[in-house]
Amino acid sequence: MRFVFFIVLLFLTGCQSNAEKLRTVDMYNVSGDMIGTVALSEQADGVQLKVKLEGLEPGFHGIHVHEYPKCEAPDFTTAGNHYNPEGNEHGLMHPEGSHLGDLPNIEADDGGLVDAELMLPEATLMEGKNSLLKEDGTSIVIQQGPDDGLTQPGGNGGQRIVCGELKTNPDEEDSEESPTDPTEFNEDQEE
Ligand code: ZN
Repeated sequence: MRFVFFIVLLFLTGCQSNAEKLRTVDMYNVSGDMIGTVALSEQADGVQLKVKLEGLEPGFHGIHVHEYPKCEAPDFTTAGNHYNPEGNEHGLMHPEGSHLGDLPNIEADDGGLVDAELMLPEATLMEGKNSLLKEDGTSIVIQQGPDDGLTQPGGNGGQRIVCGELKTNPDEEDSEESPTDPTEFNEDQEE
C-alpha cells in the first residue's frame, strides 16, 4: 500500500514544473573558470545545497547566499551583502543572527575538492519573503578563509574567490552572453 502511494506521489510531482524546486548554479573563480556547481533543491525544511567544487585551497572557506545575482570579477562585490531579508545580524553563532544567507563553512580536502551538503532552513525557492528567487534572484559566494560566525558584517572570511549567479529567469542569461547584445554597454551606468 505504501509502495502504491509512493508511485502516485512520484507521478504527481512529475506532473508539476520542477523549475523552482531544483536549480543548479555554475560557480566561477576570479579568472572566469567554472570550477563546479551548487545544486539547490526545495525540501520540506528549507533549501538544500549540494556543493561540488574543485581547485580551492585546502581548508575551510566561508560560503553565503548574497543579495544580487551579479558576479563580476575580480572581487565579486557586485553580488552585494549577505542575503538578509529579515534584518538580522551576521553569523550562525551570533545571538541576534543570522542572515538568511549564512551557511556553515565548507572544507576543501588536500586535493582542493569540496563535496558538501548544506541547508538553508529558513529559505525557499518558491514565492515568499525568504525566497532565493525574489526579484532578479541571488548569488552564492565563497571566500578565501573561513567565516568565524560572529564578526560583523560578514564573518571576516576575507576575499571573495568564487561566485555563482542564481537568476530568477535564467533564460535571460543567454542573451547577455551574446557579444552583439547592446545592453551590455549599459551595465557600467547602472550605479
Ligand atoms: Zn551573514
